[in-house]
Amino acid sequence: MAGGEDRNVKALKDVWKRPENALCADCGKPDPDWASYTLGVFICLSCSGIHRNIPSISKVKSLRMDHWEVAQVQFLAQHGNGLGKATYEAHIPIYCYQPTYADCQVLREQWIRSKYERKDFTEPGRYVLYSDGLKEGILWKRGRDNGQFLPRKFILSEKDGCLKYFIKQDAKEPKINIKIDVINATFQPAKVGNPNGLQITYLKDNKTRNIFVYHENGKEIVDWFNAIRSVQFHYLKVAFPMASDNEIKSRLTRNFLKEGYMEKTGPKQKEAFKKRWFTLDHRRLMYFKDPLDAFAKGEVFVGSGENGYSVKPGLPAGMQGSFSWPHGLTIVTPDRDYLFTCETEREQQDWIAAFRRVIELPMTPQEYAIEAYFKVRS
Ligand SMILES: [Zn+2]
Repeated sequence: MAGGEDRNVKALKDVWKRPENALCADCGKPDPDWASYTLGVFICLSCSGIHRNIPSISKVKSLRMDHWEVAQVQFLAQHGNGLGKATYEAHIPIYCYQPTYADCQVLREQWIRSKYERKDFTEPGRYVLYSDGLKEGILWKRGRDNGQFLPRKFILSEKDGCLKYFIKQDAKEPKINIKIDVINATFQPAKVGNPNGLQITYLKDNKTRNIFVYHENGKEIVDWFNAIRSVQFHYLKVAFPMASDNEIKSRLTRNFLKEGYMEKTGPKQKEAFKKRWFTLDHRRLMYFKDPLDAFAKGEVFVGSGENGYSVKPGLPAGMQGSFSWPHGLTIVTPDRDYLFTCETEREQQDWIAAFRRVIELPMTPQEYAIEAYFKVRS
C-alpha cells in the first residue's frame, strides 16, 4: 500500500503544479494550497474559508496537510481551474466586478456564492440585478449631521441614467438625484463600521461628496454595487459609441488608490500642520477632517509628470514648522508645492508610490478639462 500512497501523493502534486492551477480560482492569489474536492478547483486559504461556509456546494481540504483519497485526486485531475473557469465563469457580464484577494470579505464571498451556489454565470441571462431598467430598495444611509444610519429608499434608473434617494418612503421628490456618470462606489467596511459598508461618491459642481450606506444582506449590497456598474456601462455605451467594451469597463467604479491620515500645512507653508484624512481617488487628492465627512475640506488635482507634477520625499530644506510626524513628502504642481507629513516611513513610502502611479500616467482629454477647472477655482 505504501507504494500506492506515494503514487497518489505524487499524482496530487502533479495536478497541483499544473500552470492552470497556479492562481486561486476565485481571487487570483498566487500559489493556492487548498482545493475543493467537490468543485475540483484550487483556491487560497482565505477563499477556502468562504467555501467551507457553503458545505452543500463545496468541500475543501488542505493540499499540504490533509490526506487525499485516490478518487479525490483523480477528480481534481479531471477538473482544475481551467475547466472551473470555463464552467462557472462562462458568461460574466462585462460590468460585473471580479474581486481580487485585495478586496473585502463581502465582495469575495458574494462572488464565490454567485459562481458556485447561484451559478449566475453558467449560462447567458442568468445574472439578473434588476428588471425593467429599474432597481429600487431600502439602504441604511448615514445621516450627514448626527452620523446615525437610517433607512432610505434608493432608486437606480437605467433609462434616466441616475441614482436617487428619498427621505420619506412616499416622497415624490428625491432628496438628491445623481447622474450615473459622476458616481463612484467602493466598499469601505472599516470606515463605515459595517462589513457591508459602501461609500458612494459623486461630483456636484465638480466637488466630491460622500454618502455612506449599507444593507444587512451581503448579496443585496453587492447587487447594488454591480447594478450601479451596469447602469454606468449602459450609459457610457450610448455616450461613447466608438469606445470598446474594455475601455468602458475601465471607467466604471474604481477603488481609491490610497487613504489614510497625513498632516498638512497651508499655502504659505508657515501655518501649523493639521492632521487630516486623505483620499487619493485617481487624480483627485481630497482631505477631510473626519473620514466620514460628507464634503472634502479641499481637493488637489494630481496631473502627470510631463505637465509639471511630481512627488518627492521630504520637506524643503530648513523647513521649520509645527508638525509632529517626522516623515515628510512634497507634491509639486505647476502652481504651488503641497507639504505633508506621515507618521511612519512605511506610510510615507506608500503615499509616494500611490502618487507616482498617477503622475506617471499621461493625462486624458477629460483630465485636462478637470485640471483647468481646478485652476479656475483656486
Ligand atoms: Zn482566493
